[in-house]
Amino acid sequence: MNTPETVAPEWIRPHMDTALCLAEAALAAGEFPVGCVIACQDQIVSTGARTSSSGQHPNETDHAEIRALQEYFALDAPPPAETCIVISTLEPCLMCFGALLISGFRTIAYAYEDAMGGGTSANLSVLPPLYRNACPRIIPGIRRNRSLRLFQQFFRNPETIYWKNSLLSQYTLSQALPPEV
Ligand SMILES: [Zn+2]
Repeated sequence: MNTPETVAPEWIRPHMDTALCLAEAALAAGEFPVGCVIACQDQIVSTGARTSSSGQHPNETDHAEIRALQEYFALDAPPPAETCIVISTLEPCLMCFGALLISGFRTIAYAYEDAMGGGTSANLSVLPPLYRNACPRIIPGIRRNRSLRLFQQFFRNPETIYWKNSLLSQYTLSQALPPEV
């Protein structure tokens, strides 16, 4: 049986593909291209995609991970969080990372690193017990280039306002990508 402790990247990839489809749909809708899947073994438990990132006043609570969390908590009998894996196309920010830890999730996989606002490298050992004792397992880089490609499309779009000319935009556009096959 696959548990979060034994799960291999090969097992995560199909779920990441689903998260990338959610990110592609967000991009097509003019949103920041992030998708998130919460999975228990081979079953998808809940999903989320970024919304409210377009326009002059983006809402910084409608992140893909928070929306997947809200769908998870709306289930009648969700599987225990510690048995699930959170799979996001972008490294979770500090808000999402904190919400996931408080909610009991302990395994988080992501595709593309967030060089500007990623929260998963936070030094939990200096924080209060709820965080210090969480000991999450972080699995980076699953399908990284597919996610990076979506962010490059987003930031190359002249209509993009969200995080335009930010460190994340500059970092993203400076990343080399192999030709699409
Ligand atoms: Zn977030």
